[in-house]
Amino acid sequence: MKNFQFYNPVRILFGKGQIAALTAQIPAGAKVLITYGGGSIKQNGVYDQVKAALADFETVEFGGIEANPHYETLLRAVELGRTEQVDFLLAVGGGSVLDGTKFIAAAIPFEGNEPWDILADKAKVARAVPFGAVLTLPATGSEMNSGAVITRVSTQEKLAFSSPLTFPKFSVLDPETCFTLPPRQIANGIADAFTHVLEQYLTYPINTPLQDRLAEAVLLTLIEEGPKVLDNPTDYDAMANFMWSATNALNGTLAAGVVTDWSTHYVAHELTALHGIDHARTLAIVLPSMLRYRQAGKLDKLVQYGQRVWNITAGTDEERAEATVQATVAFFERLDIKTRLSDYDVGPDTIRQIVQRFTERGVKNLGERQELQIADVEKILTMAL
Ligand code: NAP
Ligand code: FE
Repeated sequence: MKNFQFYNPVRILFGKGQIAALTAQIPAGAKVLITYGGGSIKQNGVYDQVKAALADFETVEFGGIEANPHYETLLRAVELGRTEQVDFLLAVGGGSVLDGTKFIAAAIPFEGNEPWDILADKAKVARAVPFGAVLTLPATGSEMNSGAVITRVSTQEKLAFSSPLTFPKFSVLDPETCFTLPPRQIANGIADAFTHVLEQYLTYPINTPLQDRLAEAVLLTLIEEGPKVLDNPTDYDAMANFMWSATNALNGTLAAGVVTDWSTHYVAHELTALHGIDHARTLAIVLPSMLRYRQAGKLDKLVQYGQRVWNITAGTDEERAEATVQATVAFFERLDIKTRLSDYDVGPDTIRQIVQRFTERGVKNLGERQELQIADVEKILTMAL
């Protein structure tokens, strides 16, 4: 096992009716900026519950944070937060609203001229406005981690940052707030959480049986509970199990002491940046080719994953690894998520564009052994056509 530090300060308020419990988590007298997305919270009653919980606080609001939150939009929220001198932020929505709010929290007190520097690795987060979250879409784990992914429309870039200062102070996870999710977003959430686990689990083995079994537990629970949620989004227990699985997929526990990959996410972000394809769908496109191309380096774990999660036991190790990738693809397809670039009308031009962007950005050495070069990314994307 690798050495590690584990730190996760996020208080989770889980279950029915827990939005009301957030009142006690915000410092008395704080002026609160409520951030939200395109309006789903106004249609499903979540907004009203939040307003009731904040009855004793002075509030201002910023709505309209879009999926794959735009830097340009978030800068307007930063301006509002500065003008109104808010003390606390409350993000209400899915991963995009939560990620966007993490950026707003870091950018309000940012002293440089260009807050994009936080994302371009040119500036560290020195301070952040404290914030909490009400999660309405199980998927990203953003509710219990310190990371955020932001899109800059003007340059078609999608970049991530994280800081110990951008953990939420608390997150409310009430499964009932997710009952209104459309099938597409439920499927996206299952696939995103599933891939988060694989990015931390399908690496070379270093004798971490507990972390392996924790990862397999999350995968198996997503496989069992995900389809139940799709069949009946108002099944409370299924939604609760899905929601807690997605949180556990990316709250730091699975990464502790293991080798992690994240190259699927890194490459997939380019497809969203260039074509606006849903985050989870870009992962489902990149992951199968990533695993096939790197079968040799990931063989032991692919075989273990196949056996323990998909009951694949026949054949040579290489055959079992391929059958395991096929089982993963079939799972995505059962969620109605297409897994090839051509399914999204994306062709070789885009691959050339991504190669050029990675070259300009000086990207090299992706993957758990830092073994992937830009030429490998080009081959992997070509396999995904
Ligand atoms: P999302 O982009 O936050 O939301 C997708 C859509 O779902 C929105 O149109 C939203 O509508 C709707 N929605 C949310 N909750 C709903 C509800 N309860 N009922 C009905 N509709 C609802 O989706 P996401 O998958 O959670 O977040 C994706 C983003 O997170 C991507 O940018 C991705 O790169 C990022 N990400 C972050 C991390 C991390 O660790 N921080 C990890 C993986 C991915 P409204 O706008 O109207 O609310
Ligand atoms: Fe993700």
